[in-house]
Amino acid sequence: MYADVVIDISSKEVDRPFTYRIPEALLERAVIGTPVHIPFGVGNKLRQGFIIGLKETAEYPDERIKDIDSVDEKTADLETRFLSLAIWLRERYGGTLTQALSVVMPNKVKVEPRRERYYVWTGTDEELEKSLSEAQRKKHYARIRLLEAFTENRVMPASIARDRLNITSVNLKFFTEHGLVEVRTKDGDHLEKSLLTAIERHSSKGTGVHLNSEQEQAVRNIENDSRTVHLLFGVTGSGKTEVYLKLIEDALRDGKEAIVLIPEIALTYQTVMRFYARFGELVSVVHSRVSKGERFARFEEARSGEIKVMIGPRSALFTPFSNPGLIIIDEFHENSYLSEQVPKYSTVETAVKIASENGSKVVLGSATPLVECYEKALSGEYGFHRLLHRASSGAELPEVQVVDLREELRAGNRSIFSRALQEKMKERLERNEQIMLFLNRRGYSGAVSCRSCGEPVTCPHCSVAMNYHKNGTLQCHFCGYTRPMVKTCPKCTSPLIGAFGIGTEKVEEMVKTLLPEIRTLRMDADTTAGKDGHQEILEKFMNHEADVLIGTQMIVKGHDFKDVTLVGILAADLSLNVPDYRSAERTFELLTQAEGRAGRAGKKGECIVQTYNPEHYAISAAAAQDYEAFYKSEMIFRRQMKYPPAGHFMGMTISGAWEKELAETAERLTEAAKRAFPGVLFLGPAEAGIYKVKDMYRQVVWFKTPALSKLLEIKRFLEKTGQEIIGNRKIFMTFES
Ligand code: ADP
Ligand code: ZN
Ligand code: ZN
Repeated sequence: MYADVVIDISSKEVDRPFTYRIPEALLERAVIGTPVHIPFGVGNKLRQGFIIGLKETAEYPDERIKDIDSVDEKTADLETRFLSLAIWLRERYGGTLTQALSVVMPNKVKVEPRRERYYVWTGTDEELEKSLSEAQRKKHYARIRLLEAFTENRVMPASIARDRLNITSVNLKFFTEHGLVEVRTKDGDHLEKSLLTAIERHSSKGTGVHLNSEQEQAVRNIENDSRTVHLLFGVTGSGKTEVYLKLIEDALRDGKEAIVLIPEIALTYQTVMRFYARFGELVSVVHSRVSKGERFARFEEARSGEIKVMIGPRSALFTPFSNPGLIIIDEFHENSYLSEQVPKYSTVETAVKIASENGSKVVLGSATPLVECYEKALSGEYGFHRLLHRASSGAELPEVQVVDLREELRAGNRSIFSRALQEKMKERLERNEQIMLFLNRRGYSGAVSCRSCGEPVTCPHCSVAMNYHKNGTLQCHFCGYTRPMVKTCPKCTSPLIGAFGIGTEKVEEMVKTLLPEIRTLRMDADTTAGKDGHQEILEKFMNHEADVLIGTQMIVKGHDFKDVTLVGILAADLSLNVPDYRSAERTFELLTQAEGRAGRAGKKGECIVQTYNPEHYAISAAAAQDYEAFYKSEMIFRRQMKYPPAGHFMGMTISGAWEKELAETAERLTEAAKRAFPGVLFLGPAEAGIYKVKDMYRQVVWFKTPALSKLLEIKRFLEKTGQEIIGNRKIFMTFES
């Protein structure tokens, strides 16, 4: 037996392993990921290496190959754990070991770590109150945010103030100059102390929330259950976060650490402050706006044990804690948990892998779980915990009414607002309650196409229709390419060219026409493009500076607005028409989440779902807020089609700049795979749904098998054969499942 051994995993290129022979005595222990000592170079000096592959034969004559000296006994250190994780990622999702390592150990680039600084309120309580009411009077939002945060906690990390509260040094200077705030750095030995105070602060004084019996039971059952993975299925507003907080507290008490993954879009300062208020300086946050250097510093703090809780989007999964007892994935159904870069890993699957190796627990929280995970919970593979009621006193799930848009048309209503929605919007305005209108689309209107020949105007770099924007331009939402609106059809020169469908901008305009006195706010990719756009819009809405918030899926995620009592879903079917086997699941999820924004704090909530497909199970089940009903119908569909979890499939995308060369390569590769795996179903090669992106053409091949192991075998085959067929041409392969 021979082994592929890499010498230095902190160097950039680790995909060039050296071949070593495995001596008889080590055969059993030499598995992938094992750290070993090997003789290296002319002097045969012993160095540390890692086994990244095993093989029966070597490509050199035997006399040129050296023996592995011994197994490195200090196993299971962080480096080893992370290396074996990287190897697993490469096996499972493709790509190179270098790419996998840069996901797992993004901090190989050494940067100067920066110590966290803290802002401490040193003024009196009266001064704090006075400053706050003054800031409110002057509508000084940055100061309000800062002072409100101080009201909850007199100490806060500078990074949270800066990234989550958007506090600039100018905002701060005002307070430091008046001697109300001091900037300090953490000193070495008060870690233990702050751990104790964090726990004490909670147990003595508490945060004012006593877990209800459902929450208590979920905590107890998760803690007393030896299974690795737990599904926390809780309706919107059922208090999942409180369950997480208690689980973390108990994990810390046991000397463990916790990782909390939250989708970037829900990672608002309100969310972060809930954790910070409970665990103080033991909490750190990473997200896309944190620089490499800061991320490095925070990961170092985790490594050294200075912090115990890491919050962040999917990349926080790779926080180098020495004893991560708990990995929480909030809203685990979210798309953002699937990496878009190679290796295209699934955060849930990877977390489960990490936890089962470390003996930690994974808690998956959602009101709309992925059906594959729900199935595992039902079958007993995962622990199953339910929160069926909203937690705030008096808060009930909203009342949902489905409106058939075809009937509206028949009744002569051509507006995008059904009669029921119009009436209820008026009512809310009179009662001074708030409204959210949800449309799963952005821009002033939809794709631009020709009414004579039907051709859409497409982006020259991507094969997608361009969207019309009010400023008179056409934009591609994939690559950002912008051009002036065309006057005639590029195909047939007809002047009857126009934009069809509606976007959020248009909705805003129409609401104002219908209800002239209404104050509107709009949130979509256009209005949030600025640095603070997202947080600022949320804040204005929270401060009641608008009656209605109009937006894309951004508005339906996890926000807790107390005065929203009406949610209007304008076109529930839009997401059903996406060519993807998960489109029904996605639709159910979006509708349920959108409905979940209404009536969260005691006032009765209502939701109007407008649709052309009231009989589709994703829509009727979402309207009934009945996950079980959705699950049953969806599983019938998945079984029929052999889609996951009824079967496994994987897609290979190969892309290249030369259309013909690419198609030929795809064809040859698929043929080879078909010959090597006669029983397996291969679909394609075919042009990808979006054939051309940024001037690269894309061909896809899908393959389905009942067993995951078979899938991985095919993938390895395709990677290897692909390299041979492609040679050094610029053609790229990626895999996703
Ligand atoms: P979820 O994450 O399930 O959507 P949250 O944890 O955000 O729910 O809780 C929703 C609301 O209910 C929050 O305002 C929270 O403060 C409140 N809440 C949670 N647990 C309790 C409880 N046990 N008693 C009273 N209010 C609670
Ligand atoms: Zn035309
Ligand atoms: Zn484009």
